[in-house]
Amino acid sequence: RNRPQRLRAYQRGEDEAYLRRLFLVERLKRALVRDDGALFLTYQPKLDLARGRIDRVEALVRWVDDEHGFISPDEFVPLAEQSGLIIKLTRWVVRSVLRQLALWNASGLHLGVAINVSAQDICHEQFIDSLLHELRESGVRHEQVTLEITERDLMDNEALAVEQLTALKAAGFRIAVDDYGVGYSSLSKLKQLPVDELKIDKSFILQLPESEQDQNIVSSTIELGHKLGLKVVAEGVETSAGLDLLRAMRCDSVQGYHLARPMSAEDLTQWYASYAQ
Ligand code: C2E
Ligand code: CA
Ligand code: CA
Ligand code: CA
Repeated sequence: RNRPQRLRAYQRGEDEAYLRRLFLVERLKRALVRDDGALFLTYQPKLDLARGRIDRVEALVRWVDDEHGFISPDEFVPLAEQSGLIIKLTRWVVRSVLRQLALWNASGLHLGVAINVSAQDICHEQFIDSLLHELRESGVRHEQVTLEITERDLMDNEALAVEQLTALKAAGFRIAVDDYGVGYSSLSKLKQLPVDELKIDKSFILQLPESEQDQNIVSSTIELGHKLGLKVVAEGVETSAGLDLLRAMRCDSVQGYHLARPMSAEDLTQWYASYAQ
């Protein structure tokens, strides 16, 4: 007697989740067309430990829908990927980020920026051309742009991804492997990839001071990265104890709430001015 009822409840939950997904995809489409501020960017600084300087920021997209309020990128980015909207979303992100970078350049603030891209983006035939076009329009230099792609995305699309990454790197972009350590790449595969930077996933960093196991994983990942000639970045650095450990392990850069949260371009400009003093 109970079972069909539970099944119905389950079904109802499924239907609701399905409807929410459909609805969000439609709203996201609209937000991209209108570009009226529902979608916006935040920037989180990265600290170069050797030079003690903020030299880069990561662009992180935000979406506040009129009806649904704040929607996490962890929810809508996968939806954009499943629905094919990711190409348009990334194009919007690239254009907006480069416009902001051009403003910063003009004001004498020279920062590099990391942009998150999916396998679908880099495998899209127009991706490189449209990126180069936006760069010319904005006057931003190639070396200022890092493309972050997750380890998982890379491994799922290996052959094509290697080809595209090689072309992107040849065009002068920096390439970072994001969320490193949660995928399943082997050493030999990593060696074949034309990347500049390893970004250790925050799941290994968040409890770093408390977890000896994480410390072992992180220190050997840093060593490995360096042996392969890569820069190693840690994300999710929330405490000074974590920062001290990473410094001792010779990690190249850190990013996390301990330093700063992602902020609007305006807030970042102010934050940077007071940090640099
Ligand atoms: P990600 O690329 O791994 O980005 C790092 C996430 O960690 C961000 O979450 C950031 O706000 C968060 N974070 C930074 N420092 C800390 C910290 O100290 N502690 C903790 N607990 N978290 C920290 P966010 O902004 O919610 O983004 C989530 C994911 O959504 C990103 O993960 C990325 O995969 C995706 N995403 C965000 N913006 C974009 C975008 O413009 N394009 C694409 N394709 N994906 C994006
Ligand atoms: Ca990232
Ligand atoms: Ca990450
Ligand atoms: Ca992530």
